[in-house]
Formats: sequence, structure tokens, C-alpha cells
Amino acid sequence: MITLFESGEHKSFLFDDLSSGSMVQANQHIISHGDEAMILDPGGHKVHSALFALISSAVPMRNLKHIFFSHQDPDIIAAANAWLMMSDAQAYLSALWMRFIPHFGVDELVINRIHPVPDEGMTINVGGVDLKVIPAHFLHSAGNFQVYDPVSKILYSGDLGASLGCDYSMVEDFDSHIQYMEGFHRRYMPSSSALKMWVRMVRTLDIDIIAPQHGAMFGTPELSNRFIDWVDGLECGLDLMSETFVVPQ
Ligand code: FE
Repeated sequence: MITLFESGEHKSFLFDDLSSGSMVQANQHIISHGDEAMILDPGGHKVHSALFALISSAVPMRNLKHIFFSHQDPDIIAAANAWLMMSDAQAYLSALWMRFIPHFGVDELVINRIHPVPDEGMTINVGGVDLKVIPAHFLHSAGNFQVYDPVSKILYSGDLGASLGCDYSMVEDFDSHIQYMEGFHRRYMPSSSALKMWVRMVRTLDIDIIAPQHGAMFGTPELSNRFIDWVDGLECGLDLMSETFVVPQ
């Protein structure tokens, strides 16, 4: 566990080593303020078992009152039922995915504790602090959100900023880090116009750290800005697919 931020009763924790076997490495974050905590993108079943055993090193389990799902992918939400059954937390997910998530086996007893986030986003009050759930649609999911914490100034960016295959958890040299992000962003992010909408929004935020759901973080305002500039100029997805699809022979 890494403590990303601590000031008074406001804390932020990262678990980055609970993925195993062939599963993609994923980061789980906990934001704690006073006697309430939110877990972000808690992951699938094996991560749930590991994190459930460790969570008390960060916050008392009874404080877990909020669960945030950035989108509908299995590495985010597959263990939704277990988290809801083992806590009395309220969960938040894009309204687009509400009727798909029950296919992961979410019990009727707890399904009404998953709340739809409207396309424009919302705020969630955690222990007295308003966290901003900001739109990041099509980055990469059609209904996709990120969390900005105005106290720690951390932007939890979900799949945006993800890196695969690097062996460090903090980016030090942006240019040499690009190789770990490029393939993922060019194929999983559908369009540079969505990236530019995101860039215009996040340039209005005061950001100290950008923390993606996979791979390393951008741990300073300078590195966060380098990342935003990189995103602003990136061609991806449909921008790179100008030819027609071809039927395999
Ligand atoms: Fe995803």
C-alpha cells in the first residue's frame, strides 16, 4: 500500500500489486475523509479477495460508504456484488451501464445501492468533502467518468493515462514513458475529438497528480501537464482507421 496524500483527516491510498497471473495490472485507490471512504475501480474477484484482506490497513471496513466504477469493464466492476454484499456502501456507475452490470451476478438485494451517474457527472460527498465525478465519455468507454479530488488535487483518470509493462509506479521521465502508453491509447481510445474535449475540461482544474487505473502515475503538476499536452496532440482510434474493414479470406 502506498499513501499518496495525507493532510489532517483527508487521505489517499493506492494498492498497485494485487493483480496476478495473466490479468492486466490494475490500481485500486481509496479516498478517505473523516469517517467515510470511497474505493475507486475495485476490480475483479481475485483482487477483491486480496484487497478485502488488506483494506483495514488503510481504513476501517465500516467506513467504506462509497464505491466508484469509472466504466463497465471487468477489471473495474466484476466483483461489484461481493463489495456490495460485504459493505453497506452506495455505488456509482454511468447510467448507460446500469442494465448490463446485473449480468456480473449482482444480487437483487444490493442492486438498488448502485446509482446511475448522469452523462453530465455529479458530486459525491465523502465524509464532508465533495468529490467531482467528471465526464470522460469515450475515453475509452461510451459511458465513462473520472474522479477529481479538490483536496488532494489528484485526478483519478481511469483508463486514460494507462501504461502497460513498465516496472515503476511513478513516472520520472515522460518521454521514455510514452512507449508504455502509446499502443494502448492508439487502439483503445476511439477518437482525438473526445481527447480534446477532455483536455479543455481538465485544463480548468488544479492538478497535482494524475493517477490512472493501470500502470504508473504522473506525480507532479509538471508531469501531469506533459501528459495533458501529449493527449491533446494524440491521434487514436478512428483517426488512424481511415480505410474500410476487410472480410477475412
Ligand atoms: Fe476499460
